[in-house]
Amino acid sequence: MENALAEIGVFGGSGFYSLFDNDSDRQEKWVETPYGLPSDKVVIGKIAGRKVAFLPRHGANHQYPPHVINYRANVWAMKSLGVTRVIAPCAAGSLKKEVGLGHFVVCDQFVDRTTGRIDTFYDGPIATHVSSAEPYCPEMRKVAYEAGKEAGITMHETGTVVVIQGPRFSSKAESRWFTGQGWEVINMTQFPEVHLVKELEMCVVNISLITDYDAGLIGVEPVNHSEVVKVFTQNLSNLRTLLVKLIEKLPAKRSKCECGEALKHARF
Ligand SMILES: [Zn+2]
Repeated sequence: MENALAEIGVFGGSGFYSLFDNDSDRQEKWVETPYGLPSDKVVIGKIAGRKVAFLPRHGANHQYPPHVINYRANVWAMKSLGVTRVIAPCAAGSLKKEVGLGHFVVCDQFVDRTTGRIDTFYDGPIATHVSSAEPYCPEMRKVAYEAGKEAGITMHETGTVVVIQGPRFSSKAESRWFTGQGWEVINMTQFPEVHLVKELEMCVVNISLITDYDAGLIGVEPVNHSEVVKVFTQNLSNLRTLLVKLIEKLPAKRSKCECGEALKHARF
């Protein structure tokens, strides 16, 4: 869209509440949606000459915990601004020792362990079944991985994130179970966020910032929230560097993925 207010959307997570500190031309805007207001004002600014919209998914004061976020309003707001690509970084726990603190994982799969969240825009009357086979955009994943490598960050090219309901953290038994499945990352916000992005035919990439080891990993202290925020804050400058490089390197047009046609085979 030539006249789009923004082409790239970024959801901020725990500890990550602003993006354009150096852009004095940035604009703030409440976006109304059919699903109510998003978590906060969207801030629109420029990074590397590209129009970028930023929205902290928990609100600017972290007032919306993962299980009460209005995911549909947040995602709809991005779409209505003209966004075609969404970057959805998040703080996350590691389920494997080799996925260390401060590492970034570009997840390629999710496992949904949430309950009761509204996870679709399509409640009928037209039955719409959008595929989750490849939830994340292959082109954006590749560019994000390369951007992180260039920035000197320890990157994992793939990973499965299990998304738990929260707000509680996992029991040791649950955590051992997740690790036993071979999954790498645990988080509370990727679902339904990324699926809703896909339902609106936008591309989405996750960057999981590993801030702690989950409760079941033997010999490692269980997580508490202040630790999460501390490690996350230390990694914020890495994330910002990666984001700028990723935005710089993203081709102007989408040509190497099918995210823009997610509805094509979804309806009968
Ligand atoms: Zn895509």
